Amino acid sequence: MTFRVKAVQKTSPDSPFEIAEITRRDPRPDDVVIEIKAAGICHSDIHTIRNEWGEAHFPLTVGHEIAGVVTEVGSEATDFAIGERVGVGCMVNSCGECEQCRNNQEQDCLNGAVGTYNSTDVDGSITQGGYSQKVVVNKNFVCRIPEGIELDQAAPLLCAGITTYAPIDRWGVGEGDTVAVLGLGGLGHMAVQIAAAKGAKVTVLSRSLRKEEQARELGAERTLATTEEGFFEQHRGEFDFILNTISADIDVDAYLGLLKPHGVMVVVGLPPSQQPLHFGSVVGGAKVLAGSNIGGIQQTQEMLDFCAAHGIGARIEKVSVHEVDAAYERVVAGEVQFRCVIDTASFEN
Ligand code: NAP
Ligand code: ZN
Repeated sequence: MTFRVKAVQKTSPDSPFEIAEITRRDPRPDDVVIEIKAAGICHSDIHTIRNEWGEAHFPLTVGHEIAGVVTEVGSEATDFAIGERVGVGCMVNSCGECEQCRNNQEQDCLNGAVGTYNSTDVDGSITQGGYSQKVVVNKNFVCRIPEGIELDQAAPLLCAGITTYAPIDRWGVGEGDTVAVLGLGGLGHMAVQIAAAKGAKVTVLSRSLRKEEQARELGAERTLATTEEGFFEQHRGEFDFILNTISADIDVDAYLGLLKPHGVMVVVGLPPSQQPLHFGSVVGGAKVLAGSNIGGIQQTQEMLDFCAAHGIGARIEKVSVHEVDAAYERVVAGEVQFRCVIDTASFEN
């Protein structure tokens, strides 16, 4: 009833990654079996497996930016063809019946969506993520990767892409809007491309100017270093919309000061600690401080199609399954340009 595949796992937050065999279920009628070709390394994988968001279930394989090809379909999943290029993001199931699921917002399922890893599945097992050779997923949580995007450049879209596309879409960011993207990492570099494709005037707010040239190539008009003396006074009230992708603590009040009156700041970065806020920072100027959590499956497909139509993909650095520890250090140091993607062919090396 199950089969074994190779995976990259940790047995505790402090142990190094190791190659192990994990169990996948045999496909149910509504399942799709996917041979994983590429798996992006999201900062959420790091927060989770280092117990920064609470105690994870070990041994654990993370990874929720999955791209691959279909190798098997259940009897009720025949709308997917063997050999088809597909992707899986942060969720692998939800109740399908609550108001949120019926509204295509499975990520907010009132009965709790099943995360791709470290989550209790419908059969009680703990889900294991994409740093592995194969995954078995309910067909309703599988997206199609359009022609024109390579699988390794598509993988990061399944989390970083949808997480930035959804708030840009919800808040109607478009032509002529002045947009600031905070942090030029995996999410940030997708936000720049998507907001620029929507016609916004994008500024990257980074800790330094060292990624300035790359930011311009991605579509940003300018890059500003937030660490420069007097930065927050100098750029007060400049932006209609700010998307915060920073994985660490920020001075929320200072960033809200960069918004125009009635401006909107959306938080997607999820540092482990609480972030203090003075109400005065949103009351003055009637500003909006909002959050956003990935996006529904229908919108994930829409985002993939949008990216294909606009020639948008992730800029990636390929890593082997033996290099994941080192890749994590580089992500945390902000050195990656802009997403590490595990090449699963390296399981054979
Ligand atoms: P990432 O690739 O590590 O990028 C984060 C960026 O934040 C870095 O590139 C860096 O930008 C900036 N940064 C890091 N440390 C900083 C510090 N101490 N001070 C100021 N800036 C700092 O991470 P990611 O994969 O894009 O994920 C970003 C965050 O979003 C994580 O917390 C992740 O868990 C969260 N996330 C949320 C959702 C959601 O649905 N809401 C989905 C996915 C991920 P510069 O080098 O340009 O300064
Ligand atoms: Zn993610």
